Amino acid sequence: MPEILEPKAARVIRLVDQRTANLAEIARARMAATPIAANGLLADALGRPLHDLRISVTDRCNFRCNYCMPKEVFDKNYAYLPHSALLSFEEITRIAKLFAAHGVRKIRLTGGEPLLRKNIEFLIEKLARLRTVDGLALDLTLTTNGSLLQRKAQALKSAGLQRVTVSLDGLDDAVFRQMNDVDFPVHDVLEGIEAARMAGLGLDANGRLTGLKVNMVVKRGTNEQEILPMARHFKGTGITLRFIEYMDVGATNGWRMNEVLASREVVKLIHTELPLLALQPSTPGETAQRWGYADAHGNLDPNAGEVGMISSVTQAFCGDCNRARLSTEGKLYLCLFASQGHDLRTLMRDGASDADIESAIGHIWRVRDDRYSELRSLGSPDTGGGAKRVEMSYIGG
Ligand code: SAM
Ligand code: SF4
Ligand code: SF4
Repeated sequence: MPEILEPKAARVIRLVDQRTANLAEIARARMAATPIAANGLLADALGRPLHDLRISVTDRCNFRCNYCMPKEVFDKNYAYLPHSALLSFEEITRIAKLFAAHGVRKIRLTGGEPLLRKNIEFLIEKLARLRTVDGLALDLTLTTNGSLLQRKAQALKSAGLQRVTVSLDGLDDAVFRQMNDVDFPVHDVLEGIEAARMAGLGLDANGRLTGLKVNMVVKRGTNEQEILPMARHFKGTGITLRFIEYMDVGATNGWRMNEVLASREVVKLIHTELPLLALQPSTPGETAQRWGYADAHGNLDPNAGEVGMISSVTQAFCGDCNRARLSTEGKLYLCLFASQGHDLRTLMRDGASDADIESAIGHIWRVRDDRYSELRSLGSPDTGGGAKRVEMSYIGG
């Protein structure tokens, strides 16, 4: 496919169609186009900045959550990436530094299960040394299923991890064991969360616990009866519980709309027993709508903590989406629902300079116009053209 170069006067250089881009095209375009030096002010085609980078450090997991890595697909014959395909810690750090120069302020390590990556704390040490364009430390966090957290929480904190999000889909052991599909008990995840709290993960500069979060994916017909017990359990603990609508990510989970329980239903349900009050977003581009608990007088109870609703299906938030995703093998994805990524690993391993990679990132981000969830809610047929979407375990949640 030919490169699409816009007239210079427009000062926007459309390099390639991002859904069909490959390294050769990017590299060719990079040579042809004006280099883009990072100045921290990068914006995409819809004016969205680049603030958040999610890095998948492994495509493997010790769980088989049926909404993410169903056992029937991710079985013993599944072809995971060989170690040589994975970005090394040095490569990840190099790319992360260039993203920080472009304005990234927050890095989330994810996967697969990120704590399965050997010596992950060495990577965290390296990332913790990076600085934003304003000279501040990056907001460094990680999403985990919690299974190895009890063992690793202290080492992660000592390495410089600031916060952690733990996924837990219910408190009923039978329900949770069925959902993770490897018979993993709730108790061990709760112990992991406690270990994270004891290690000081999630404490802000004022010593308040604001960054320890629990994510619960809600699947209608599977675990909606766990919503209230989860809300009761975490209310007043300082741990923020977030409910995520079951999403149509990847191509293997057999997603059906009638298994989605809309966040507004979750709010309604909690509100019947634990009255909620809407809170303002704390940062632009925040994925979750925030709710606080009311006290007996209907005022916000500051000691009760908050819950978040991530309404990816019923209330798309693409308009503020400032997130890029780096896959386990170094492909840059511009949307969770993308089917193709931009191969930064080959660029790096072919000997590109930092300036070249920085420029490539700049060009890729500038033409980004992804807004899958918005298009889906508008009923648009232009939501991927039937292309096979990448799996969440590979691209990172
Ligand atoms: N293994 C780690 C974990 O489970 O926390 C990190 C990777 S996981 C892909 C990241 C997040 O994506 C988790 O909170 C998980 O519950 C969520 N997730 C995975 N598949 C999902 C789906 N189909 N819909 C909504 N959330 C999903
Ligand atoms: Fe593993 Fe996380 Fe996916 Fe569950 S959601 S299968 S824990 S990567
Ligand atoms: Fe961002 Fe894509 Fe999700 Fe929209 S659908 S919020 S663009 S990741």
